[in-house]
Amino acid sequence: MKKHTWNGFIGDSGSKILQIFTILSSFSVVIICSNLKFNNFDLFTTISNLRIISPSTQEYICFACWIAFSWLLYVIIPGKNELGPINVSGTRYTYKLNSLSCMMIIFILYLVVDRMQFFPLQLLSEYTDRIMVTMLYGGLCLSFLCYIKGLYFPTWNTNESKPRGNFIDDFYSGIELTPRMNSCDPCDLKLFSVGHLGMIMWFILNFSHANYAIIKYNNYTSLIIFLLQAIYIIDWAYYERWYLYTIDMQHDRLGYALCFGPISWMPVAYTMYTYYTAHNNIQNSLALQLISIIIFLFGYWLFRECNNQKEFFRHSKKYKIWGKECQYLNVCYNTSDGKLHNSRLLLSGFWGWARHFNYIGDWIMCLALSMLCGFDNISSHIYTIQMIFVLFTRAKRDDERCTRKYGEYWKQYRIKVPYKIIPYIY
Ligand code: NDP
Repeated sequence: MKKHTWNGFIGDSGSKILQIFTILSSFSVVIICSNLKFNNFDLFTTISNLRIISPSTQEYICFACWIAFSWLLYVIIPGKNELGPINVSGTRYTYKLNSLSCMMIIFILYLVVDRMQFFPLQLLSEYTDRIMVTMLYGGLCLSFLCYIKGLYFPTWNTNESKPRGNFIDDFYSGIELTPRMNSCDPCDLKLFSVGHLGMIMWFILNFSHANYAIIKYNNYTSLIIFLLQAIYIIDWAYYERWYLYTIDMQHDRLGYALCFGPISWMPVAYTMYTYYTAHNNIQNSLALQLISIIIFLFGYWLFRECNNQKEFFRHSKKYKIWGKECQYLNVCYNTSDGKLHNSRLLLSGFWGWARHFNYIGDWIMCLALSMLCGFDNISSHIYTIQMIFVLFTRAKRDDERCTRKYGEYWKQYRIKVPYKIIPYIY
């Protein structure tokens, strides 16, 4: 049996390209939004009118308060303590799960603050460009803090938290797989970054854009997009335990990718559909709205059904897919503590069609939202375009990682399920 070792999730050159791509695209989105207000996608005009926003001290303080308040909620609000998967070193950590409660509390507080006229909802939408830039710098600082923490103050002294010695890889991919603040265990910093900062900010910003569009233009397109994306966000929080078994939580360490990504990139790219439609008063015909909603709901069903098939199969031996007993491949792998573990790879349902058919549903949802934005301006489709890149590279690195983990068994699995994402095509 080949030993399963940890080699990091992405090659050196790949990480550099991704890093440059995300920083540049974040900045260009912000510049496009703040300079052109989406009037025209003209790069020359954008560059010649360049106005770099620099956040004020107050804005940085708000950013720090938001992080601190979100962390406080994560720690004090009761939640379920759930055992996560066996990781690369053979350990199973416990995670505190309470994203849904924290999201609802923040949302209600936000409504109260608006009602009291203390901070009207649409202000967040009006100042989105400033918020985005503050998050960009803040996200970069926090990424550096994660790097420093991993290097000098690792939570666990295990193989899974050893630096690889290459600054780019250690900064981009991170050092710690399960980073914690010792006194707040089992609150997990990676789960906090994605769930409590990224997902909740996405929800709140989307809502304020929808609110802005209704108040300013009596336009409901952004509200439709908000409600559709809310299904996805609330679904994530509701099925939080499932998220522990995804690549992010099982295999990726907390570095720039999982810190800057949720904190700085998600509020820019993921809210672009509502931001664009709200500030440009985009109206659609009823027919287009209905078609987009149907396509989105179909994508959501595919996404959820596919992910549930794997989740339920892994947690129950009696689980049936489409009324039939599940077909599967028995596999084993070694962890770095030298122990041998058994596992099963599903061959039935959508998992028999392609190794990552669950990515298709996600992309169909993006396509539906793009349709609601119209096709006049490329910046509103940044998430849809980015998802193609994200999902394809993700499928590739998961394949490489599973080959290292399962060795010959993964080769057998690939013969049985030869397509990566799209059956008969890729
Ligand atoms: P998966 O949830 O598919 O997890 C992949 C892991 O599942 C593999 O590493 C392996 O882990 C296990 N696995 C693979 N094949 C099988 C099988 N046949 N049977 C049982 N287990 C298997 O991948 P992701 O974490 O990338 O995606 C999860 C969801 O999140 C997707 O629906 C995706 O679309 C979505 N997503 C959304 C993003 C966004 O920005 N909106 C970004 C990324 C993902 P092991 O065997 O080690 O347990």
